[in-house]
Amino acid sequence: MDLYEYQARDLFGAHGVPVLPGRVVTTSEQARAAAAELGGRVVVKAQVKTGGRGKAGGVQLADTPQETQRRAAAILGMDIKGHTVHSVLVTPACDIAQEYYLSFVLDRTRRAFLAMASVQGGMEIEEVAATAPEALAKVPVDPVVGVDARKAAEIVHTAGFPAEVAEAVADAALRLWDVFVAEDATLVEVNPLIRDTQGAIIALDGKVTLDDNAGFRHPDHAELADSVGQDPLEAMAKARNLNYVKLDGQVGIIGNGAGLVMSTLDVVAYAGRAHGGMKPANFLDIGGGANAQVMADGLDIIFGDPDVRSVFVNVFGGITACDQVATGIVQALDLLGRDTSRGEAAGKPLVVRLDGNNVAEGRRILAQAAHPLITMVDTMDAAADKAAELAALTCAKGA
Ligand code: GDP
Ligand code: MN
Repeated sequence: MDLYEYQARDLFGAHGVPVLPGRVVTTSEQARAAAAELGGRVVVKAQVKTGGRGKAGGVQLADTPQETQRRAAAILGMDIKGHTVHSVLVTPACDIAQEYYLSFVLDRTRRAFLAMASVQGGMEIEEVAATAPEALAKVPVDPVVGVDARKAAEIVHTAGFPAEVAEAVADAALRLWDVFVAEDATLVEVNPLIRDTQGAIIALDGKVTLDDNAGFRHPDHAELADSVGQDPLEAMAKARNLNYVKLDGQVGIIGNGAGLVMSTLDVVAYAGRAHGGMKPANFLDIGGGANAQVMADGLDIIFGDPDVRSVFVNVFGGITACDQVATGIVQALDLLGRDTSRGEAAGKPLVVRLDGNNVAEGRRILAQAAHPLITMVDTMDAAADKAAELAALTCAKGA
């Protein structure tokens, strides 16, 4: 789960990383009041879960409460890389002398953690990383040892921080590491970490990704999840314990096992090229238990996506054998079909490819059901082609 900047700051603050006070508000009037309360010059910052807000005009300085209100009015409702701004953070403005960069990430390929730091932080950090990689220090962190005073000093030294801030930056790094470990994050990033004109080191912007798999250790993290901004179908899938990710194509995908579903996405994307560029509409892994209810839940979510024109059910029978899956599909369509509130929703063509454990019986069950929406295809490539063809056909009909 990615956090908003204000949530990241709250976590930073709780672990002693130096941050500024701030107020999160949802209207320009509230922004004005917050500025009046904070006093002096402020910064109004769009709260969206994407980077590059500054460049998009989502970070603006304001000298007075009136100006704050105007700036907030301009930022609220703004679209930043597809994210609508619903709230802004109002925080005291800093006099920045220098912008630095500091982060810890989970480095999956090395099965370790990685510290990154640079004295050339700020909005151009990606540019710096691409054109002058030596300016972005990368220091591996042994997961068993973690970041101690020695490691913090190494990070600061490798990045070339000037002597007068070395101690304060090392201290900030230790505290940021504490956030990373204690909160079970996979990313904590401060950009910019600044030195102000008084010489103080402050984390001005924060990005945190929490490891959802560690959620059971952090009941307090539940309240950080937001329903606003979440895809309603993804929310529904989550509530039903299904692994679903919405994509932007037209062919709904259901499979059992993440690997199979991933390769199904590839095969459909490839097949779709011959059918007017049809693409996968989602990732949906129903896991091992492909019984009628799980299948109905999965189909229900996919049918609920208005972009979906056809559905490809790709199942490899294992512990749950093909006959159970076939029965599940037939019963699921029956369940959904009987729910009259659904209207047309349950009427999308289904291409089913079954293979694996007890496949003959599975295919027999589907053949016998002779459901008008189901087309059975024996191979994955041919089934992908059929699903793409059907999607293109329904698109052409203007359905
Ligand atoms: P991002 O673009 O989404 O990463 O948003 P940031 O919060 O990092 O802000 C972008 C840039 O705005 C920073 O790199 C700073 O240059 C500038 N900025 C942010 N806060 C302040 C502030 O308090 N004072 C000044 N002068 N500039 C700020
Ligand atoms: Mn930033």
